Amino acid sequence: MTRELASWGRYPYLLQQRHPCSWQSELPALLHRLAKHPAGTLPYGNGRSYGDSCLASSGELLQTRQLDRLISADWENGVILAESGITLAEILAVTIPRGWFLPVTPGTKFVTLGGAIANDVHGKNHHVRGTFGRHVQRLSLLRSDQQEALVCSAQENTELFRATIGGLGLSGVIVWAELQLMPITSSEIDGVNVRFDSLGEFFSLSEEFDRTHEYTVAWIDCLARGSSAGRGVFSVGNHAREGKLQFDGRTRLSVPVTPPITLMNRLSLNLFNNAYFHLHQPGRRGSRGSYDPFFYPLDSILHWNRIYGRRGFQQYQCVIPDAVAEPAMREVLSSIAGSGSGSFLAVMKRCGTVASPGLMSFPMPGVSLALDFPQHQDLDRVLFRRLDQVVRQAGGRLYPAKDAHMAGEDFRAFYPAWQQVEALRDPALISQFWTRVTQA
Ligand SMILES: Cc1cc2nc3c(=O)[nH]c(=O)nc-3n(C[C@H](O)[C@H](O)[C@H](O)COP(=O)(O)OP(=O)(O)OC[C@H]3O[C@@H](n4cnc5c(N)ncnc54)[C@H](O)[C@@H]3O)c2cc1C
Repeated sequence: MTRELASWGRYPYLLQQRHPCSWQSELPALLHRLAKHPAGTLPYGNGRSYGDSCLASSGELLQTRQLDRLISADWENGVILAESGITLAEILAVTIPRGWFLPVTPGTKFVTLGGAIANDVHGKNHHVRGTFGRHVQRLSLLRSDQQEALVCSAQENTELFRATIGGLGLSGVIVWAELQLMPITSSEIDGVNVRFDSLGEFFSLSEEFDRTHEYTVAWIDCLARGSSAGRGVFSVGNHAREGKLQFDGRTRLSVPVTPPITLMNRLSLNLFNNAYFHLHQPGRRGSRGSYDPFFYPLDSILHWNRIYGRRGFQQYQCVIPDAVAEPAMREVLSSIAGSGSGSFLAVMKRCGTVASPGLMSFPMPGVSLALDFPQHQDLDRVLFRRLDQVVRQAGGRLYPAKDAHMAGEDFRAFYPAWQQVEALRDPALISQFWTRVTQA
């Protein structure tokens, strides 16, 4: 059976052919068959990457989502071994009742284990625990130029291990991975929200809360200007010490169709941002609640990416080193506010110093900003060109998992280890992204 797949941002909107794999035993034959295509193939998890890094150059995707089994678990030490297509939601359903949580989670639980490793994803606790790849103990990698899958870890096939974490699916197909979990005594989060009025305040709150809280992140009003530029709501949390251990499988709303045009425009955005900012009273507000809305607010609306209409959208995510983060972010925010474009969800977060084993991991010690933009013809040419210039000059970089526009020259400067990854690349695996940034 085949079905067409795209990336989350639906830009570039390239529908690709799906070749699903349901059993580990089927994987070698499928990979070798797809490898015969002159432009090869690419592993595809659950398509939660925004741009073109999860799209194959050939248009033929090897989909691992149905490899979704938990193979073994050591509940004493919180170590699980699972197939690469299992989602983080499926992992949490099994581990939370037993008192274990993901050590690192991105802003959606609908990503696969393989996808989380291939983009070396980060979360609200990057300043404490680094990236996802840091908690992967071993993985099994199947390559089209090898008969048998290779076990890779910090001790075995080390170079391939490092090239696979944050390796964008290019070093081979991850068959399974072993993950060290984090102990919890409650599935609830003790949170605090603090409204702040300027970018300067974001930096002082970060300084304070990064020392006391596992999870820290801020929502930014991307349209605020002048002295209010960079205002927002800081949101922090720790796992509660006591309470129930309960998986939260709440029911969800869904956006049923894609409207012809985006519902995200200057007017709706202004209304949203003002209302959200003023919904939060000045001062600090504590609350306790389920982990799910704390980590995954967007997961409660299925297919929310459709609100951007048929043209789709792009996410811009950059990280800027600490030394110049404040002035550079001020410039980035001023360019965005001046453009009148952006999204309700603009997220700023300080990344920490915990190093990743991956060769091409995105985070660096500094401040990251992520926000969505409805696609339009001048987006790359005008606004992104200006933002890229600031990021480049500040010594920062952009995140491939979110990207559909980065210039090849920029990518190669941001990720100098790309040549090591290229040298270790499975000759049959190549993405639209990799072709764009390494061959242009
Ligand atoms: C709402 C939302 C919030 C997000 N928040 C964050 C966040 O906070 N932090 C963050 O870091 N990211 C975040 N992301 C991005 C997302 O976590 C990553 O793009 C993730 O890699 C997607 O996983 P996936 O399973 O959907 O993989 P896909 O998007 O399908 O693929 C991603 C990459 O993984 C490779 N891949 C997939 N499976 C395998 C496999 N078995 N073997 C080898 N390679 C494989 C693919 O080739 C591709 O390069 C967010 C995305 C969304 C939609």
